[in-house]
Amino acid sequence: MFYIFCPYCDERREEEEFHPSGQAHLVRPTDPESVSDEAWGDYLFFRDNPRGIHHEMWVHRLGCRKFFNITRDTTTYEILETYPMGEQPTITAETARVRREQGVQTADGGWQTVGAQPENSTLNEETSS
Ligand SMILES: [Zn+2]
Repeated sequence: MFYIFCPYCDERREEEEFHPSGQAHLVRPTDPESVSDEAWGDYLFFRDNPRGIHHEMWVHRLGCRKFFNITRDTTTYEILETYPMGEQPTITAETARVRREQGVQTADGGWQTVGAQPENSTLNEETSS
């Protein structure tokens, strides 16, 4: 069990209350008739599958029922930040690479979480239950 920080409820809630909804920041073509079949197919069917930093849309299904975004490391499953829809992430693959190169790491091998939570506090903290 772990907790996810909902940026709308402004508190951590149990993971069972949330549901992933795919890649974040997808932009629907404003005029689908004017894009090529390939571009339309890319929009409909193809998603990024990076090793490392990934931005995902989640919904607080059993809470406020609002969609928000999560920045997650796919290699460690660590949730690095959550942010409301319409905002941009503070952590990107590029900023994460710079952090690793500068040696800003935590004792458990991850790197320091920034964003809505105070230092020494992870967004997806494990519990003993
Ligand atoms: Zn919520």
